[in-house]
Amino acid sequence: MSTSQPPTPPSSATSFLPLDALFENPVFAGGAGLAGLAAAASLGRKSIILGAGALKRRLLVEVEISKQDNSYGWLLAWMSLPRPTGGFIQSRMTRLHQLSMKTSSTSIFDKPRHASFMLHAGYGRYFMRHKGVYFQVSREKQSSSNMTTGEPHETITLTTLYAQRHLFEDIFREAHELAVEAQEGKTVMHTAQGHSMDWKPFGNPRKKRPLSSVILDKGIKERIVSDVKDFLDSQKWYVDRGIPYRRGYLLYGPPGSGKSSFIQSLAGELDFGVSLINLSERGITDDKLAMLLTKLPPRTILLLEDADAAFVNRRKTESDGYNGATVTFSGLLNALDGVAAGEERIAFLTTNHIDRLDEALIRPGRVDLTVRIGQATRYQAAEMWDRFYGDIDGDGAGRSRFLQRLEDLDLIAPEGGQKTSKMHTSTAAIQGLFLFNKNDMEGAIEQAPGLIPRIYEA
Ligand code: ADP
Repeated sequence: MSTSQPPTPPSSATSFLPLDALFENPVFAGGAGLAGLAAAASLGRKSIILGAGALKRRLLVEVEISKQDNSYGWLLAWMSLPRPTGGFIQSRMTRLHQLSMKTSSTSIFDKPRHASFMLHAGYGRYFMRHKGVYFQVSREKQSSSNMTTGEPHETITLTTLYAQRHLFEDIFREAHELAVEAQEGKTVMHTAQGHSMDWKPFGNPRKKRPLSSVILDKGIKERIVSDVKDFLDSQKWYVDRGIPYRRGYLLYGPPGSGKSSFIQSLAGELDFGVSLINLSERGITDDKLAMLLTKLPPRTILLLEDADAAFVNRRKTESDGYNGATVTFSGLLNALDGVAAGEERIAFLTTNHIDRLDEALIRPGRVDLTVRIGQATRYQAAEMWDRFYGDIDGDGAGRSRFLQRLEDLDLIAPEGGQKTSKMHTSTAAIQGLFLFNKNDMEGAIEQAPGLIPRIYEA
């Protein structure tokens, strides 16, 4: 019988390290074992995390909405919306423990007790249910902030099962419908705000101002309204001919003649909002104007107030102390029909000083229609009278006396006279007189001399 010898282990003399001795050392062997176990555990953990990440990516779908996006506000409002559940009206947020609040009042005259409160989903993570499907909401304030406004970035992330991804479409559609409904009958004003000059809604949407409440001289309102409507109906005509779909209007005349009021009511009539830039405002530079026009809020009329400011700046040089903080003439022209102009747009420019403008402005695509909105005419004074005192001045005798008084004081042109003059009164002043003498037409007639204007220098 031969016994086979176990293979001789390589002698320690041939090993580079004295491994045997090392592994025979119980302290070392124990330590190495523990380290091995720890490494294996860590590897296991990593693979579980990676695996879970991969699984999550396969099974779940996420959508992230930043505060900068319009849908952010819509979504918050939608989440707070009461919904019917088994006969009860319940908020989607009944189970939330973290809420934030937004207080608003419809008018600055509202008493505090008339303010309305809206509970919004607060920051953190929670689950909600929509049409039987659960989804996770994570509302977070990021540690980074907007460099210009200093406001922290905020996001809402919705997560649900990949198989239920249609849910998002449904949620966003509902949230959007809700936002549209909330603005029904209102006109949203957008202004450029903050250092970054981003378009933001200015205050709460305002009740639409009816066109009938703005009284312009005979036929003027109708002419502009039909021109704008005609433009809105002829998009195909522009597209077919490769012409940018833009139309510009210039309204000029003294302050208080109803230019801004008319544009606001026109926007209401067309179901548009207004995007307002005052060109005489400091901080609106050529670059900012161009940038704002490239991202004009959809379905809004662009209103550039005080267009003459750009022409004044053309004459200014740095030696005059002009530091380039406002818009220049070429900046305005570029904004109107240069690369920044955007393909679709209705723009209204207003000025109290037509004489300061340059003819280069009156060109198709820049300004297509120029209309003077002047001092009050006899026609306007009569129409305004009827709006204020129509119901108490049955036979119109009061109106005749009032108009005669205005004529005698040379505050309006005599019957048949076409022109208004600097000495004539403004529609804003007539409105002021009527407001002061609410339901008192005799008072209005008596105080008519108060309408004599301080001379307006055009
Ligand atoms: P403008 O833009 O020409 O300076 P506004 O539209 O700001 O004038 O008018 C100032 C105020 O006077 C507003 O309260 C407006 O209601 C009133 N007003 C001025 N003109 C008219 C008008 N033609 N019809 C109705 N209201 C007018």
